[in-house]
Amino acid sequence: MYQSTVKHSSDIRINNKKKIIDQLRLECRTKKQIANDIGVSIATASSLCNALLMDGYLLSDSTNNSDGGRIPQQLQLKHDARYVACLNVVERDIITIAITDLMGEVVFQDHINCKHCLTPEELIRFSSDCIYKMLDDNHIPFQLLIGIGVAVCGNELDGLNTIQNSSGNPLLENSNIRVILEERFSGVPIYIDNIANEVALALNHKHPELSDLIYLYIGDSVGVGIISAGKLLRGSHGLGGEINHLQLGTYGYTCYCGLKNCIETEISIVGFQRKFFELSGINHEINRFGWDIFEDAVRNNTAPALQVIEENGRMIGKTFALLSHLFDAPSYWMGGFDSYIYSRLYPFIMEELEKRSLFRDLFSYNVFFDEGFHTIITKGCYELVFQNWFPMNT
Ligand SMILES: [Zn+2]
Repeated sequence: MYQSTVKHSSDIRINNKKKIIDQLRLECRTKKQIANDIGVSIATASSLCNALLMDGYLLSDSTNNSDGGRIPQQLQLKHDARYVACLNVVERDIITIAITDLMGEVVFQDHINCKHCLTPEELIRFSSDCIYKMLDDNHIPFQLLIGIGVAVCGNELDGLNTIQNSSGNPLLENSNIRVILEERFSGVPIYIDNIANEVALALNHKHPELSDLIYLYIGDSVGVGIISAGKLLRGSHGLGGEINHLQLGTYGYTCYCGLKNCIETEISIVGFQRKFFELSGINHEINRFGWDIFEDAVRNNTAPALQVIEENGRMIGKTFALLSHLFDAPSYWMGGFDSYIYSRLYPFIMEELEKRSLFRDLFSYNVFFDEGFHTIITKGCYELVFQNWFPMNT
């Protein structure tokens, strides 16, 4: 998370300032506590905090004297000192844009129809306009942005700068959205990552006690984000954790990768509907209305719907079991669709996961559903930006 090679004392100072800001995201601290937190003397901590106070990153409560005793000064992060713009282009026809403050709290968020955008350029230029409008409407100076975090459903391969694997939003496949954003937001750092990676980062910040966790995103596409030993697993090309092409399927559907039976073809929300419509003989387009028809059928316990729930629940359970063998994470999270369908999948997921757990008598793995889907993506975009940012100008 922090710069690994520190050559100059000014680098050390910037790193320590970042550590202080990071710590204050969680709770208020005194200078003495901060000195302990980051392993410096109280005099050094005091100097760093004074600089951060002067530059407007921190607030300090006034030192009150009661009965003559001195109350240690509590420092807190000034939440509106800086902002992050977040752009979620995971869905086909809707973008989600948001602004978070320096603490990562979502201050503005909006879902905007983008059906009229027919090319990647149009989509990113429209998204940029929407971000500028949100900043203007809320009187946030552009200069206060520390970065823009973008969530995509594929991957921006390291060194290539084009989006690949973007099955959930095919409009962005092979596009270089970074170059457009850098042109529109000159001087503002742009960070782009897979949605599941970003959500894993956000969950990791929310649950710092969990140094290992895995998040399975199920939307129009499928993705996995992995935090292992407290770090996001990205791999050599940014593709670490991409398990959507594991061939656990049984319906013979051809994947866009050219192979058959990739799990994405069956456990994405497209896959759920395709299986259900085929089994039930219903002729309907695969879209959000199709998903509603499927959900109604699950609520009414129709045989084809129950078959899809059991098959896909077991396939997700096998996927988690495989991931548990590789990473031994105690917690597995899912999100991207609705909690009712999750509640029906859950027994099958757990049965398959527990069946494959060698030490089931000693401990069990937990599976959770992430309810606030859009908000956790926004927080993931923020986290990506925050982790790469340093308070250089103080
Ligand atoms: Zn595939």
